[in-house]
Amino acid sequence: MAEDWSPSSWRIKPIAQDVKYTDKQHLARVTDQIKHLPPLVTPAEIERLRYHLSRVESGQGFILHAGDCAESFEACTHRNITNKIGLILSFSLVLLWGARVPIVRIGRIAGQYAKPRSSSTEVVDGKTVLSFRGDNVNGISPDDREPDPQRMLSAYFYSTTTLNYVRALLTSDFASLHHPRTWSLKHVRSPTLKCEFENITNALSDALAFTQTVGAIGGVDEGGYVQGGGRGVLGEVDFYSSHEGLMLDFEEAMTRFLPIPAGTLSHTDAKKPLPPKTYYNTSAHFLWIGDRTRQLTHAHVEYFRGIRNPIGIKVGPSMKDDELARLLDIVNPDKEHGKVTLITRYGAGKVETHLPGHIAAIRACGHPVIWVCDPMHGNTHTSSTGYKTRHFSSIITEVTSTLALHAKENSRLGGVSLEFTGELNEQGFSVTECLGGSMQLGEEELELRYQSYCDPRLNFEQALDLAFLLSDHYKQ
Ligand code: PEP
Ligand code: MN
Repeated sequence: MAEDWSPSSWRIKPIAQDVKYTDKQHLARVTDQIKHLPPLVTPAEIERLRYHLSRVESGQGFILHAGDCAESFEACTHRNITNKIGLILSFSLVLLWGARVPIVRIGRIAGQYAKPRSSSTEVVDGKTVLSFRGDNVNGISPDDREPDPQRMLSAYFYSTTTLNYVRALLTSDFASLHHPRTWSLKHVRSPTLKCEFENITNALSDALAFTQTVGAIGGVDEGGYVQGGGRGVLGEVDFYSSHEGLMLDFEEAMTRFLPIPAGTLSHTDAKKPLPPKTYYNTSAHFLWIGDRTRQLTHAHVEYFRGIRNPIGIKVGPSMKDDELARLLDIVNPDKEHGKVTLITRYGAGKVETHLPGHIAAIRACGHPVIWVCDPMHGNTHTSSTGYKTRHFSSIITEVTSTLALHAKENSRLGGVSLEFTGELNEQGFSVTECLGGSMQLGEEELELRYQSYCDPRLNFEQALDLAFLLSDHYKQ
């Protein structure tokens, strides 16, 4: 357990991206209420993810981290959640088919409500207002920008209801790899994509019929860790929840001192014995530190160093090589396997400048990490029509150069971190937020169905385009 640490030790540190509440008593009442509410996830599930991540680290798996930039309370509907899970399952199936390694699925879901912003204010209709910081802080409407602590409690309940439905979906026939047509094909409009996807599902049905006889299902092996009767954490396939650990008042309230489940393996090379109990963040299986809140001496790093959950760290172009090594010394002093995932997000054209130095720094300090590529956050621009967007080709360029550089440096890409959505409008059309892809979405089309509250997301077709590209890369 981390020394001189407590769930609230971050409070005496400087903090970036802070939210200023005017009514501190109201804030205290809300966080106190949250402290008494049940956990969303359990230590056994968190340990199981750690085990799977340690496998990815040693080359036996690939992470698909994906979902919305920001979830919204309004979008918490039956249809949206079903479509999100359907797309994550479809994407992971295509990947599994090409890469032939277990896919660890981690959704940006059931708690991804808070956003860091480059500026604390913005101008809307000529008026300067506080920036929108996510539904658990303030409202998207410019008249509703005062941070309201009550929203944190709402976020807890929206997360709970989302996760409850995700668990239900994944333990029902919906998620069964035995009939993926229920969660996929009805959304695929492009005949080429449909045909490619059908080929995979047909071949998969044959393969499953065979492997079922041998007793291995689900796409992720059980590894003999926590008994799950052959089932993944949230059902027949493994699925984990995640969000950026930005709102430390909330994260602290969800941090609980709980027994480490019997049978949990020590993930250090020295096999250091585990204490009987430790601190788990019970709001999500996986949490990450954003690129704007990873200052070594600040509050977020302080909070993250004390929790047992596996964590992600966003690594952008401003990360210095030695800073990366020092950050790892702080958050993972015992060099535990499966603990830290580095999510690089440099931007297309910048990978060559930054990634080799970061790989060398990691090698020199001997920290075990998983490398994940986020090709979204370094590739945002404003369209000539005024929309915050990303071009599919920049996303592909960043993924391709990241793959090539890892290969060149004798390293390994262990996953991708994406913003995509299976959201459809009433007529069944996908969102129009990113440019390009096989549907060749143009600037003039962005306004048609631009629904994101924050960053632009790949739509169903564009996400599958990317899945096939990745899958093909691994097949060769
Ligand atoms: C995000 O993942 O939505 C995000 C804000 O990323 P970053 O911290 O890398 O900018
Ligand atoms: Mn984002």
